[in-house]
Amino acid sequence: PIEPLYIRGPVIKGFGRGSKVLGIPTANLAAHDFSDVLSEHTSGVYFGWAGLSTRGIFKMVMSVGWNPYFDNTEKTIEPWLLHEFNEDFYGEELRLLVVGYIRPEANFPSLESLIARIHEDGKIAEKSLDLPIYAAYKDSPYLATA
Ligand code: ADP
Ligand code: MG
Repeated sequence: PIEPLYIRGPVIKGFGRGSKVLGIPTANLAAHDFSDVLSEHTSGVYFGWAGLSTRGIFKMVMSVGWNPYFDNTEKTIEPWLLHEFNEDFYGEELRLLVVGYIRPEANFPSLESLIARIHEDGKIAEKSLDLPIYAAYKDSPYLATA
């Protein structure tokens, strides 16, 4: 377990690579709003809960970092909500309660291996968030508040 991290903000447009290249949409947040949080936390993959005020509370797995495979020059926060949505939610307020850490950021030799690893991360997040210590955070008022 880690010290829980509270991150909120409107969902912004990224490079559109999550869905198109990886088949894994990530709801980007403006990293410059969280530069203190980001500099204090190691790049890598985290998990926790995501609240969208009009839609509900969902499990999420999140990359924090530089996306070495894509050679980004800016650190990003990219949560993949572990839920099927039938529409985009750009501009909506997203609240994240980050409760666990899975692994450091890594580079991958191929897109296939990157995608496989993200799916693995998703399974770890799914399972971990069912454990009582992590499940309890789903009821946090922070996630439900509009
Ligand atoms: P971008 O680079 O603009 O973030 P993505 O390809 O990563 O584009 O897609 C992310 C967008 O897809 C989110 O901003 C959100 O509006 C939508 N979306 C749909 N389903 C999900 C999901 N399960 N998790 C995260 N975002 C999703
Ligand atoms: Mg994205």
